[in-house]
Amino acid sequence: MHVIPIGRVEPRVIETAQRCLADALGCNTVLVPAMEDFEFAYDSAREQYSAPQLLQRLARHRLANSWRLLAITELDLFIPMLSYVYGQAQLGGALAIVSIARLRQEFHGFPADEGLLMVRTAKEVLHETGHTLGLVHCRDETCVMSLSTNIRQVDVKRPAFCVDCRVRAVDAAGGHRRQEILEAGVSE
Ligand SMILES: [Zn+2]
Ligand SMILES: [Zn+2]
Repeated sequence: MHVIPIGRVEPRVIETAQRCLADALGCNTVLVPAMEDFEFAYDSAREQYSAPQLLQRLARHRLANSWRLLAITELDLFIPMLSYVYGQAQLGGALAIVSIARLRQEFHGFPADEGLLMVRTAKEVLHETGHTLGLVHCRDETCVMSLSTNIRQVDVKRPAFCVDCRVRAVDAAGGHRRQEILEAGVSE
């Protein structure tokens, strides 16, 4: 599985993403150079970036056919029908994107909290990756696959899958282990 920053992203955020994917799903991750071409997705009226347009661009990336390609960004994302999103993913597909812009306490008018940012990052990374593994939203509001439309809902859930979701996620991740092993041979 490949992890790609879009623009500048703090190393600690990337490390958190890689660690939670390894811990929760047993996924080995390879960090690849950042995608620096993202201004095309900027919407000046919203002062935000279009998540679908960024996903479309990722679909043309040379790693689009890798087992999974997870993008992480500081850019504030939206989709046309929502004022913002924490991330977006292809259900059962290869591509996902997570924004940490609104996971920062500063965004909500509070002092920065690095620990909280890392926990929230892990949750959203697992959530969007879970979608790529075919998981839909879970009714258990403490499960990482529960829908979060505001930061309170992000904070209510744990950075872990419920038992049912974990079985499905680990099963889907394991089914592709062979491809992942093959990819590990590809030098970055
Ligand atoms: Zn979701
Ligand atoms: Zn669940």
